[in-house]
Amino acid sequence: MMTCPKCSGTLYLDQDSFGTFAKCVQCGLLKDISLVNAPSSHGNLVKTVKLLSRKA
Ligand SMILES: [Zn+2]
Repeated sequence: MMTCPKCSGTLYLDQDSFGTFAKCVQCGLLKDISLVNAPSSHGNLVKTVKLLSRKA
């Protein structure tokens, strides 16, 4: 579960023509997301969701 960096509310994933984004149900914050490969604590690469600033 992802939480809003602004208000700690719940982020829901949604999709539009610009791509996948996360939307906060509490404050309406929009964040583009991308899946990146990041090393886990075991050294394996795992898919991790990264929040990006959404361009207006
Ligand atoms: Zn929020």
